[in-house]
Amino acid sequence: MRLVLLGAPGSGKGTQAKILQDHFKVQWLSLGDMLRDEVKKDSVLGRQIKSIMEKGELVSDAVVSQVIEEHIDPEGFILDGFPRTIAQAGILDTILEKKGSAIDHVIYFDVSEETVLTRLSGRRICPKCGANYHVKNIPPRQEGICDVCGSELIVRKDDTPEVIRRRWEVFMKESKPLMDYYKEKGILMSCDANGNAQELFREIIEKINDGK
Ligand code: AMP
Repeated sequence: MRLVLLGAPGSGKGTQAKILQDHFKVQWLSLGDMLRDEVKKDSVLGRQIKSIMEKGELVSDAVVSQVIEEHIDPEGFILDGFPRTIAQAGILDTILEKKGSAIDHVIYFDVSEETVLTRLSGRRICPKCGANYHVKNIPPRQEGICDVCGSELIVRKDDTPEVIRRRWEVFMKESKPLMDYYKEKGILMSCDANGNAQELFREIIEKINDGK
């Protein structure tokens, strides 16, 4: 199965990618996670992209495309956070064509700005093991402490209200137009992403099975 997940920050792509990966047993590539790993490593590239990410802007197409080309498994994948621009979509088509592969479905996560704000402003992450929490929806057993490894939870630097708003604007301007790009190719399916993850998973599987 070769899937692209398209949706605003906070639309639940990461959560769904994990469930879909377990279901289809294919590679899950999260561009955001891969870029954050680069920043953590403090590599030359990491230092270049750190401030871009903290402002909620997009890293250059050249950088992200190279990361994808190096890591994508043409046999099966779930792409989470790539492509995010029409230019990146064109680059992805070229990469896949070269590898004799193509996307099966693009899943659009339809979500309101209000849902995104609530989800992201309440998100807490573990800086050590990467576990995700939400102050109301998925609280840790002990406030502010990771259930898995006991580390102190933090707020992602780009989860502040001002940067969340900027990321929403960037999504609307740069990524929403991808809906038309994939609709024209006949591979777009739209799902309601305002509800819970299991409902959304069921909707996605039903639509894939119906070929919609
Ligand atoms: P995410 O974890 O998907 O919300 O991504 C976090 C940040 O990583 C984004 O706000 C961008 O700065 C950067 N990023 C992730 N994916 C891409 C992409 N496809 N193109 C450019 N920048 C990206």
